Order: sequence, then C-alpha cells, then structure tokens
Amino acid sequence: MGVATLGRVIDREEEAQLLDSIERWLEREVRPVVKDHDHADRYPVEIVEQMKALGLFGATIAPEYGGLGLPATTYAKLVMKISSVWMAITGIFNSHLMLAMAIEKFGTPAQKSLWLPQLASGEVRGGLALTEPDAGTDLQAIRTVARRDGDDYVITGTKTWISNGIEGSCFALLVKTDSTAHPRHKGMSMFIAPKQDGFRVGKKLEKLGYKSIDSAELVFDDYRISKEHLIGGVEGQGFYHATGGLELGRINVASRGVGVAEGALQMAIDYAQIRRTFGKPICEHQAIQLKLGEMATRARAARLLTLDAAATYDRGERCDMEAGMAKFFASEAALTNSTESLRIHGAYGYSKEYDIERLYRDAPLMCIGEGTNEMQRIIISKHLIRRNAVT
Ligand SMILES: Cc1cc2nc3c(=O)[nH]c(=O)nc-3n(C[C@H](O)[C@H](O)[C@H](O)COP(=O)(O)OP(=O)(O)OC[C@H]3O[C@@H](n4cnc5c(N)ncnc54)[C@H](O)[C@@H]3O)c2cc1C
Repeated sequence: MGVATLGRVIDREEEAQLLDSIERWLEREVRPVVKDHDHADRYPVEIVEQMKALGLFGATIAPEYGGLGLPATTYAKLVMKISSVWMAITGIFNSHLMLAMAIEKFGTPAQKSLWLPQLASGEVRGGLALTEPDAGTDLQAIRTVARRDGDDYVITGTKTWISNGIEGSCFALLVKTDSTAHPRHKGMSMFIAPKQDGFRVGKKLEKLGYKSIDSAELVFDDYRISKEHLIGGVEGQGFYHATGGLELGRINVASRGVGVAEGALQMAIDYAQIRRTFGKPICEHQAIQLKLGEMATRARAARLLTLDAAATYDRGERCDMEAGMAKFFASEAALTNSTESLRIHGAYGYSKEYDIERLYRDAPLMCIGEGTNEMQRIIISKHLIRRNAVT
C-alpha cells in the first residue's frame, strides 16, 4: 500500500528503506560527532556533504527537478528521526526547503527550471529571510524596501535571525514594494536573492542552543537584482508566498519537536535503568515511573498529532488548525520532556558530559520559530470559531 500524497505516491517499502538508511547514517556518522560539533558551535561540513548525497536538500522538491518528492508524512518521519539525534541539522535543509517551496509553488516556469535543480542537489543552499530587527510576528511591519529601477529592483534593509545566513548563498527575501499600501500586505513582494554585491552578512548571532547551524543578520545595501528574481513575476503577492508555506513549515517544526521529545524520553529510559539509589535502579522508584509514563504519553500524542496534520496536508486539504495544534503541542512536549529527562539525570543532566543538556537548550526554539506558541493558540481558536460559526 502507498502513502497518499499531493505529488507522488511513495511505496511503504520505499519509505521504510529510506528511513532505515537515515537511521544507519545517523548512528554511523552523526551520533558520534554531535557533542563535539555542538559544544564548538562548528558548522558540520562533512555532515552537510553527506546530507547532499542522501538527497535531503531535495527531500520535498519534485522529482522532475531532481528532488525526492517526498510526501509530508514521510518527510515528517524523516525529520523526527534526525531530530531525535541532532535537531539542529534539520534546520540546514528545512529552511532551505522553505525557499525551494516558495519557488516551486509560486515561481514562474523559468524560475523553477533555473533554481530548483540547483537547490535539490544542495549545490545552492539557503533559506527564508522574513524577520527583521523590529518585525517578527507582525511580518507586515517589515521595512526592507525594493525600488523598481528599469528592469531591476534595488533593495535596502536588514533581516535578522536568518538560518543558514552565513553558509547559504540564496534566500527567499520578503520586502515592501509599496510601503504605503493598505492593507499593508498588498505592498509586499518576495524575491529570490542570491548573495552578490550589496548583500552581506552583518553578524553571526550567538544562541542558547541550536548550535552549529548559522543564524545571521543579513544587510541589503543598494542590492540590485533583475526583475526576473521577483517570485511569480507579480508584485504584491509576497505575504501570500511567505505564509503559503506555513502549514508545511509548522509540520516541520512539530516533527522536530517530536524528535526532541522522543530523544529526551529515550535518554531518560536508559539512564533510569543504570542509575541506582537506595539499592535499586531509579526506574523502580514511583516518582521516576510517573515521569516516564507522562513523557512517553506526551511524545506519542505529539507524534500522532503531527502525522495526522501531515496526512491532511498530503490529501490536499487545508490544515492550518491541525498543523498549528501539532506545532504547539509537539514543541511544548519537547520542552517538557527535555526538562523532565534532565531532572531524571540529576546532576549529570546539568553536565556537558551527557547529551540531555543539548536537548534542553535546543527545545525552546521550537516554541518560538514558525509562529510562536502564543500565536498558534490564537490561530487555533480563530479556526475553531470559523469552523463552528453560530448562524
Ligand atoms: C534560532 C532562530 C532561528 C530563526 N530562523 C529564522 C529564519 O530562518 N528566517 C526568518 O525569517 N526568521 C527566523 N527566526 C525568527 C523567528 O521567526 C521570530 O523570532 C519569530 O517569528 C518571533 O518573532 P520575534 O522574535 O520578533 O518576537 P515578537 O514578534 O517580538 O514577539 C514577542 C512576544 O510577543 C508575543 N506576541 C506578539 N504578537 C502577539 C499577539 N498579537 N498576540 C499575542 N502575543 C503576541 C509573541 O508570541 C512573543 O511571545 C528565527 C529565530 C530564531 C530564534
């Protein structure tokens, strides 16, 4: 039986083989080096090369452009698996695939045939540049502007918190093409922005967790690009392009949350059998059993919510509410499970010798990125009212 999808049908056996090869790669190449890279905050060059060979930079790009064309359900399982070992590396291809999706979904035929094959192979890598120093949740408040000049646009402004900002070479860049438009979103446009004169990295941002992947401020100073870089070739569509990928973006972040929640649980299960107090393993104390029971239930619920949202997406149905619920619940599950696992590890949880401290530092990001969890609850509520309107 196949997995239903918008793009193609993937055989269950093919999915199992793919996930199996990812698991073998994680155990052989990734797990042994995570701690060292994370503590050094070092970009994992060899792992990125291996991710290219595995096809991860083209995971959701259609096969006609050289991608794997995975359905959301398979992609979610893949992200969960990788995140249970090292969440940060999923950001290297996740953000990149959001750029690819903006082009694949909204680009002109010429933009698709030029950019998608280079993105699918990982030859060109990048991400999504939306956030600014004074505009995150309120995206319509951005100030980066693009001024038309003949067949070109000239762009000025600053973006911040951009994942892959240093190592990436091309970004989906959200700007204002009309700062006076009302409503504000009608003056927004999205460009494919390769690094060239006028586009520089302002600074690398230091973070609590999510190490090794570069987060940067990007500065655009009279950055000139041709009109062929305007996604879809029409001004005023940028807000839709930026939010058009949010359902899949939230399923991605939810999958990362599931991976961290499950990874933290597994570390707790292992440690609780080895650590002994009062003559027995701590897993035989009821206080620890209660924690493990709750953590396991939380992780499983997060997985099921996320796969449900992904399956809805694959059927081609709207899933804003389902993806929002999955993102909200799974990221909070990651936060709670990593905290509980750290507590089960006692003082060793607080030590850099054990891996749980990394999960504890990584987890909060998922509550912030791709729409904060405060906003998710508001969105869920709005959908509830809309779907159950009393007439
Ligand atoms: C490690 C990392 C990587 C990132 N990667 C990227 C990237 O690749 N590309 C990119 O464009 N951005 C990226 N971001 C930015 C991220 O998307 C934003 O941080 C996020 O959208 C929140 O915006 P903000 O930080 O400006 O918070 P603000 O919008 O200032 O919000 C502050 C607080 O107010 C709350 N709030 C705001 N408005 C409301 C409201 N109407 N009702 C209730 N509560 C509200 C928020 O929930 C939050 O708690 C990244 C961030 C981090 C930390």
